[in-house]
Amino acid sequence: MFSSIISGGIDGNRCYTNRVEVDLARALPSFDMVGSLSHEVKEAKERVRVALKNSGIDLPPMHITVNISPANIHKTGTGYDLPIALGILAAFGHIAPERIKDICIIGELGLDGSINSVNGILPIIRNVQKQGIKMCMVPAANAAEASFVEGIDVIGVSSFSEALHILTNMSDVAFTSKSSLPSLLMEASPSEDFSDVIGQDSCKRGALISACGFHHLLITGPPGSGKTMIAKRLISILPSLTTEESLEVSSIYSIAGKLNEHTPIILNRPFQSPHHASTLKSLTGGGISVRPGAISLSHKGVLFMDELPEFSKECIEALREPIENKVININRVNAVYTYPADFLLVAASNPCPCGFYPDRSRCNCSDNEIRRYQAKISGPIRDRIDLIVTANKVDTDSLIGNTKGMDSKSMREIVVRSHEIQRERYEGTCYTYNSQVSPKDIPFFFPLYGETKDFMTQAFNSMELSARSYHKALKVARTIADIDDSEDIKVPHLAEALCYRGMDSV
Ligand SMILES: [Zn+2]
Repeated sequence: MFSSIISGGIDGNRCYTNRVEVDLARALPSFDMVGSLSHEVKEAKERVRVALKNSGIDLPPMHITVNISPANIHKTGTGYDLPIALGILAAFGHIAPERIKDICIIGELGLDGSINSVNGILPIIRNVQKQGIKMCMVPAANAAEASFVEGIDVIGVSSFSEALHILTNMSDVAFTSKSSLPSLLMEASPSEDFSDVIGQDSCKRGALISACGFHHLLITGPPGSGKTMIAKRLISILPSLTTEESLEVSSIYSIAGKLNEHTPIILNRPFQSPHHASTLKSLTGGGISVRPGAISLSHKGVLFMDELPEFSKECIEALREPIENKVININRVNAVYTYPADFLLVAASNPCPCGFYPDRSRCNCSDNEIRRYQAKISGPIRDRIDLIVTANKVDTDSLIGNTKGMDSKSMREIVVRSHEIQRERYEGTCYTYNSQVSPKDIPFFFPLYGETKDFMTQAFNSMELSARSYHKALKVARTIADIDDSEDIKVPHLAEALCYRGMDSV
């Protein structure tokens, strides 16, 4: 007596389609599970046995063997409980083989026969759909999330009895209704707007340039100057997520267990703000089942590192790989797990340990203390930050006048336009944004002639710019020229770009 059910699993962010095979034999009663299984998969036999009993099904004493193929792939997670339980009943002949032939089944069983949600349903079902499967049965709590995968019908079940009833009476089946992701994305809008930010025009300008050219940004300034407000609003001026981006980001959230019935999909660009006391693991990802960390959860959005110098050295250094390669690798004894990590870094820092430098009436920090504090942001990370802006204490005039600045919608229009310009410029190359152009291609993409060349030569000499600062200034100037819709980089663009060197100039 044998049965086979299609299921799916995930290890890190690699998805697999599996077969859960059950064989029953008239021999000494036992329950064996094989197929390269982790301990939580092996625990299924206890959950299955008790859940079946509490659903009113007593298993006759038989030798039960469960194999989850392919055997060369390590299986993790609790989603195999439901296909194992149903597979046993199918092997007993309670479910006709044709009922379970083309349906992918996933779900964790509670001891009372209830079906609990599992992590990673969205990427698992996306993968299963690509294998040509047209129908799936998932926990009811995961059904909304799975329903965003096109080309596959979703059945949500909340108890084992319900799942069994559906498979024995297929006519009663109710598929989860599908919402149109593109229209949901069109309606989505971040809740915070730049028009709420009073004063801080130079920071808003910095945020705009950062979003236009995808330049990583550092905001320095005293406590309470609104650095967090600026960072939070950056996602409101980036273009809306595309359907593919939304599915990609939501898949990461699904693996991290951050999707639920109320938030079955991510519609706005993510904003992650890890605390400076965060561990390396919470930032990069890890743990037994290798979950994504804040770096991956900010994929296609903003990673805000408030009080960057207060983070541990290893956390700051961990930013290098994702900034460079847009992925993060998590090493394990037997495998390397890779998660996407393409984010805009917005860092904030106090100018000194007390936060009030250069206001010497309030700051007593010594020059050495200030230098040591600023040096905590190591050279390699500082190299990758193109823009440094200063947030000032908000002046009372701005507060009293309450003049509203540019709103996010107007700023986003500028960002979208500048992205279009860059798309045309870099068509057929490995670049998307001005910030990504490597030094060897800078003379080709950002040529300077006549007065702009003279201006930069003079700046290079008089300001003692390093080659790195010179290149950063050119990239930022190109973005400012794009905002101006100017074909060439002009002197005012360069002059403004040179203002965003912050502590680089110290
Ligand atoms: Zn100080």
